[in-house]
Amino acid sequence: MIDNFDLFLNVWIGFGVLTFAYLIISKIRTPYGRHSSKGWGLMINNKWAWFWMEFPALVVMPVLSLIGPNELNPFSILLVSIWFIHYFNRVIVFPLRIKTKGKKMPISISLSAFFFNIFNGFFNGYYVGFIMDQGSIYNYNVLIGLIIFICGMMINISSDNTLISLRKNSEGYKIPRGNFFNFVSCPNYMGEIIEWIGFSVIAMSLPALSFTLWTFFNLVPRALNHHDWYLENFDNYPKNRKAVIPYIL
Ligand code: NDP
Repeated sequence: MIDNFDLFLNVWIGFGVLTFAYLIISKIRTPYGRHSSKGWGLMINNKWAWFWMEFPALVVMPVLSLIGPNELNPFSILLVSIWFIHYFNRVIVFPLRIKTKGKKMPISISLSAFFFNIFNGFFNGYYVGFIMDQGSIYNYNVLIGLIIFICGMMINISSDNTLISLRKNSEGYKIPRGNFFNFVSCPNYMGEIIEWIGFSVIAMSLPALSFTLWTFFNLVPRALNHHDWYLENFDNYPKNRKAVIPYIL
């Protein structure tokens, strides 16, 4: 397994590149949330979909890290902890807070995310528990990566909070405003990408890099879809706002 680990990872990254190219070229809008549409088969409750599709990530990476032969040390504990904190929010807190009553998601979308999270959790957990050399937390990259991760997480959560609060008194969609929404349509996605860049800077490993790339490959096309959707649906949408990277994209 270890012999082929890098090979599998490179194939996994290659698959991510193809997915990204497909999403960009086809302009297909992954059919959940505002892009929800019929014709994608069986639908399931939105909140439960979020729980189940992200659940493997919460469990697989920490469990593999813990059961592997590598002894836990401050460095591996740091990697597992920030991973777990992120996914505890995504799996438990986020689905409880979103106001998407009555909304459904195609089971095909949740299943593809479910399997993505098994693979991603496996690569990162197997690496930490079975392959990684003993790392040190007293390196510059760890401090810098941690700062990047925390900044990304704050941007992600505060932007998700802003979006969730738009549904306080009414259903439907409004133009989000304030903070990073002044620069991009999807600061929650921007924050998520920054978070996993930070994770890669801390871990300095191919599995971590593969996750950062996959996050970019998933979220940039979706941010472009959201941005186009806002422009199509709101005449007064701020013209200087970009999709996901301030001033650039
Ligand atoms: P969205 O920004 O599409 O939606 C977030 C929530 O806010 C949803 O409940 C949505 O409702 C609501 N919402 C969004 N825009 C508005 C608006 N203008 N007015 C009112 N309500 C709004 O994010 P996603 O649902 O795609 O993703 C949620 C989180 O998961 C994000 O933090 C994202 O970073 C993360 N994620 C990470 C991925 C990864 O690869 N690492 C992949 C996908 C998501 P509704 O659902 O009804 O549209």
